[in-house]
Amino acid sequence: MADFPPPFTGVRPDQKSPEAISRPQDRGAVEGGRFATTSPMPELPEVETVRMGLAEALQGRRLTRVSINRADLRKPFPPDFARRLTNRRVQHVRRRAKYLLLDLDRGETLIMHMGMSGRFTVYGHNAPHNGKHDHVVFETDDHKRVVFTDPRRFGLMALAATGEVDSDPLFAGIGPEPLDDKFTAAGLSAALKGKRTPIKAALLDQRVVAGLGNIYVCEALFRAGISPRRLASSVAGARAGRLVPAIKSVLKEALAAGGSSLRDYAHADGELGYFQHHFRVYDREGKACPTCGKPVKRIVQSGRSTFFCPNCQR
Ligand SMILES: [Zn+2]
Repeated sequence: MADFPPPFTGVRPDQKSPEAISRPQDRGAVEGGRFATTSPMPELPEVETVRMGLAEALQGRRLTRVSINRADLRKPFPPDFARRLTNRRVQHVRRRAKYLLLDLDRGETLIMHMGMSGRFTVYGHNAPHNGKHDHVVFETDDHKRVVFTDPRRFGLMALAATGEVDSDPLFAGIGPEPLDDKFTAAGLSAALKGKRTPIKAALLDQRVVAGLGNIYVCEALFRAGISPRRLASSVAGARAGRLVPAIKSVLKEALAAGGSSLRDYAHADGELGYFQHHFRVYDREGKACPTCGKPVKRIVQSGRSTFFCPNCQR
């Protein structure tokens, strides 16, 4: 069990300093659960950063060998999984919500979810031997090895006909992509109408909007000046008009940081998807609100930490 729980960064020590890719999601565990629960789940910017790294490593490449070292993750692997992927060329690497989609020639799409603890690492031809939790290894025709590691095995791999991905049950009922133009204040108001839950919980509901988790919901609510305790149904009109751009700007900044982390540190070589964040309220309990200087407060909602400024957020 030497490699679980994962080290603070989970990174090959020769590649990046721990500071370079601090993983706020892990701190609850590292610090002995001082927070009620901080989500270890990667959120949209992390998944999108992984997508960019995977695209660089896999797009246009042929998979010469695929190996799995067990029968299941969260669910069993599809029948003939390795055989169906072997010798297929990866045409596109896409993302929907927090799923990664690899469109293959001959009309199948590999659907992947990183779950709670999954991560991808891209190695060159001099890759180390498989680790205990390296469950899937993709080898490419230019001699890269893309390794999926998942100690807790909440990840998922599935195959679907490319033309039927959108109607796959995995995506049924998932809300709009937050960075899509179709995600609007009017649409959000309609989705929140009649919801008797706090807005924090409503934004974590993937049916309302796709891909948001604890961190970016806290940050977006802060930027919009909306209390996480406010009744979801009361977020309409001007408040929804502030919240939608706040969500988009928080995500865009995180994506920019993720993209630069790829350029600066990884070059699609090494672990993908985690990068340094600069949060205004998340994980800043007791520190000064960057707007008013009063202390940031932490409360627990649905068993998870919420960070906010009671003075600025109403
Ligand atoms: Zn404040």
